[in-house]
Amino acid sequence: RLEQYAALRDLPTRTRDGVEIELHLNAGLLVDLPHIDETGATGIGLFRTELQFMIASAFPRTNEQLKLYRSVLDAAGDRPVVFRTLDIGGDKVLPYMRAIEEENPALGWRAIRLGLDRPGLLRSQIRALLKAAAGRELRLIFPMVSAVEEFDRARHIVERELTHLRRHGHALPERALIGVMLEVPALLFQLDQLFERIDFASVGSNDLVQFLYAADRGNPRVADRFDPLGPASLRALKLIADKAMAHGKPVTLCGELASKPLEALALVAIGYRKLSLSPASYGPVKAMLLELDLGALAAAITPLLESGTELSTLRPQLKAFAEKA
Ligand code: PEP
Ligand code: MG
Repeated sequence: RLEQYAALRDLPTRTRDGVEIELHLNAGLLVDLPHIDETGATGIGLFRTELQFMIASAFPRTNEQLKLYRSVLDAAGDRPVVFRTLDIGGDKVLPYMRAIEEENPALGWRAIRLGLDRPGLLRSQIRALLKAAAGRELRLIFPMVSAVEEFDRARHIVERELTHLRRHGHALPERALIGVMLEVPALLFQLDQLFERIDFASVGSNDLVQFLYAADRGNPRVADRFDPLGPASLRALKLIADKAMAHGKPVTLCGELASKPLEALALVAIGYRKLSLSPASYGPVKAMLLELDLGALAAAITPLLESGTELSTLRPQLKAFAEKA
């Protein structure tokens, strides 16, 4: 099996009916980097910067952050890397940071909320990223954005840091592309305003689905009750893909949904052309896409999303299609 996947490495990811799909990797540490060459991935679709903070025993200094970001960009070469600013709080705890007692940490003071309220940490991280990407391209997303205004404020911090670095004679990135992580359902109702502002978007399906169904992503008691392949989540995801297309802005889906073949099948059926997945899933998902007749799949699935409101999941239909093919 593994050898079979290795043989696919240099093939373009193109469906049987000729649709190109970009497959990127999710990463977060230096040990993840060799997977780029092993898999032949298009790039790193999500670099989770908080992992460096989670395995450290104290806040990593700006210089240590800069060193890691530079190594990531070096390893990726001319392939794109999307860095996500710190997503701490919720399920991502820093042992050396004073624990904040919250009744609902996943809904609490985390990610960009913390970043905007205590901008020192976010500012120094952004500075490290801008310096690491000197002379290259920087792609940046902010986690847990729930309002357009939060994106504006976060982008403003990037602009201020750019001005600061320029004034002090530092080399700057060749260009900086700034986007959001789409993972809070409130953003679904601000998509036009959002897509006007951002350079690109990345869908975090782990959190988006958790918040859509109000079902803890880490709680096995509720995990089986709601299927991400249900019409509610697929419609939400399709709305994002459609809006991105209408605004001419790239969108990648980087949650775990993209890491499972049947789920990835559903994502391409509803319009996603860029997926970012865990290294172990790369081979199986790519193998599935190479065999796929996407036109036939979309014709089978899209009408169900438009009319099949009584279904609680499209999983059986997707499975039947996959087995028949
Ligand atoms: C997500 O929420 O889907 C995501 C990719 O980010 P994380 O799993 O790190 O929250
Ligand atoms: Mg998330």
